[in-house]
Amino acid sequence: MAASARPIIETRYEQMFPTLEPAEIERLRRFGETRTYGAGERLVATGEVSPGMFVILSGEVAVTQQNVLGRHQPIVTHGPGSFMGELAQLSGRPSLVDAHATKPVETLVIPSGRLRDVLVAEAELGERIMRALILRRVGLLESHVGGPVIVGRAEDGDVLRLEGFLDRNGHPHQTLDPDADSCAKTLLERFHVEPSRLPIVLCPNGQLLRNPSEVELARCIGLVRPIDPAKVYDVAIIGAGPAGLAAAVYGASEGLAVIVLDCRAFGGQAGASARIENYLGFPTGISGMHLMARAFNQAQKFGAETAIPDEVVRLQCHPSPDGARFQLGLANDERVRARAVVIASGARYRRLDVANLGAFEGSCVHYWASPLEGKLCAGQEVALVGAGNSAGQAAVYLASRVAKVWLLVRGPGLEASMSRYLVERIAALPNVEVLVQTEVCALEGHGGIL
Ligand SMILES: Cc1cc2nc3c(=O)[nH]c(=O)nc-3n(C[C@H](O)[C@H](O)[C@H](O)COP(=O)(O)OP(=O)(O)OC[C@H]3O[C@@H](n4cnc5c(N)ncnc54)[C@H](O)[C@@H]3O)c2cc1C
Repeated sequence: MAASARPIIETRYEQMFPTLEPAEIERLRRFGETRTYGAGERLVATGEVSPGMFVILSGEVAVTQQNVLGRHQPIVTHGPGSFMGELAQLSGRPSLVDAHATKPVETLVIPSGRLRDVLVAEAELGERIMRALILRRVGLLESHVGGPVIVGRAEDGDVLRLEGFLDRNGHPHQTLDPDADSCAKTLLERFHVEPSRLPIVLCPNGQLLRNPSEVELARCIGLVRPIDPAKVYDVAIIGAGPAGLAAAVYGASEGLAVIVLDCRAFGGQAGASARIENYLGFPTGISGMHLMARAFNQAQKFGAETAIPDEVVRLQCHPSPDGARFQLGLANDERVRARAVVIASGARYRRLDVANLGAFEGSCVHYWASPLEGKLCAGQEVALVGAGNSAGQAAVYLASRVAKVWLLVRGPGLEASMSRYLVERIAALPNVEVLVQTEVCALEGHGGIL
């Protein structure tokens, strides 16, 4: 089996679960406080905010994940010198796992804010801890066990919308198709849901949401929290694309109080890129999602607060005695006060000038070519509209997954608007056909299906 096909918990176990030296634990003591737990006592519960990262001083802690039916599946058992936590503890978000003491345990609990101090103050140790936290999140994403459970048909536009939102925010989740999965049928019976009322989302805190908006879902799973209306941030950044995240990293690393707001997900357009090959320092290329997840974690490490998804709808200038010159109004009527504002809101997509476009958006018309859309279009023929680099990357990515890509270009060719390396790569792909001087003027289909 190829190394990449094996789960990360097998290939990078040592980095995921390192054991700290006694001297390192001594250095960590000033960042936390000791707490003891009796055998069988719970340290962390899924859906609740954990007190922080736990360093195990003595005893043993079992970490488990609940499956759809509430059964616990073991992930790892931590012993002395090991530490328990993942990215949720870095940002103070609700836990994605359960943990209980299997023997009497003494721990050093480092709260979220102090954990960020560890990562900055202890460069080498901080790097090892940060790597472990990131790899553990990747492991949770790979396992497809924890997080909210979406019940709905794979091709349903709302299922895709919710999956896309969770994927792009790096949040573990599961999707169950009632036509194919007996667990889905059990859940529908248990919660008395008619198949016509799908999708539903079952959140780790036990709440059931019926076809929620992204904001409703994010609030329910603790991804976004209320903002303190009295706090004055040094910098409020609108947009968590590459520009916004860069501003957040540099601002927060200089010790400024920073908040980053985005109405969709971190990463912006770059998060949708299958492979970015022209970014300085990545000679072999990197997926946009990986690059942006690194930037997002880096911003959090330096203490930048994030509010995602939160849409900024107003910007007012009201100098006040406490130094807050600006007030941002959010779509949910919250407000953010700041001394300075960075607007990094990026681009707005141009839509096709076709009357019934809306009837097919989300089900057959998509604006990303991520693994989600790749799976959806597998083995089919796909029409891709555009002649810029985004279209070029999407064509290259989809060509390996679909039967044929028709690239529809209004102009006389690709050369004027697409990077040369992409033009050459497309020319070498036998299942991509470029149709020039071609425009989409109508869409035909029924029930959202083209
Ligand atoms: C598929 C694809 C592939 C690409 N590949 C490459 C590549 O290989 N190389 C390359 O150099 N470039 C590439 N690009 C272009 C690159 O991604 C963009 O130039 C870059 O993302 C722009 O960064 P930005 O931060 O300015 O804006 P964006 O990435 O657009 O981010 C802006 C963010 O602001 C948020 N926002 C907007 N309005 C509000 C509001 N009112 N409130 C809150 N949030 C708001 C948006 O949700 C968004 O997340 C690609 C783009 C796409 C779409």
